[in-house]
Amino acid sequence: MDLVLLGAPGAGKGTQASLLGEVFPLPRVSSGDLFRAALANQTELGRKAKVYMDRGELVPDEVTIAMVAERIAEPDCAQGVIFDGFPRTVAQAQALDDLLARQGRRVDLVLYMRVATPVLLERLAGRWTCPQCGRVYHRVYSPEQVQGVCDDCHVALYQRADDTAETQSRRIAVYLEQTAPLQDYYRAKGLLAEVDGEQTIEAVHRALVEAVRAVSAGGAA
Ligand code: AMP
Repeated sequence: MDLVLLGAPGAGKGTQASLLGEVFPLPRVSSGDLFRAALANQTELGRKAKVYMDRGELVPDEVTIAMVAERIAEPDCAQGVIFDGFPRTVAQAQALDDLLARQGRRVDLVLYMRVATPVLLERLAGRWTCPQCGRVYHRVYSPEQVQGVCDDCHVALYQRADDTAETQSRRIAVYLEQTAPLQDYYRAKGLLAEVDGEQTIEAVHRALVEAVRAVSAGGAA
């Protein structure tokens, strides 16, 4: 089963993708994490991506599509994937359709988490991440037990460079311009399930699981 998580930066895609992965045994493929890993490994791809990431803009489609294509060709992705942060443009969505079609697969469901812009800004401002497991904390809404330390890995949390004030509004504007059109793209295909992303993490999770189960029960998977 191939699932896409759609939503603005701060909508909770990463958090919900990890939780979904505990219910449905599918690998989470996060294009943002792939870029950050490339950056940490000082690869050419990482250097290329950094310029865009620092500005809160999208990395060009060719680069992003090639990176994701390589990742989903790996054996652990053979039974399906939870896509987090990809696709982000209509061209990427079309490329994903082609990539999956070559393996007799297709996007089974797109989970769109709707969150109003002022809430996104508040969430992004308080967001801290574990460099090891990727778990995301929020200073107000979901704080770690010991301040600054991951509950699971016990390593120091960091604030993403692109979670700073200057890039936040840009990232949201870029989302509205380039990624929000994907709502219509997938709605037209009858694949969009819309969830109120302003509920608690647990309530959003339950709604997403229900939506996925409805699709699997319908035999679409
Ligand atoms: P994320 O962790 O998903 O918020 O992504 C962080 C940054 O990585 C974004 O602001 C973009 O610069 C870049 N990025 C991640 N995914 C994509 C994508 N699908 N297309 C283009 N750029 C992306």
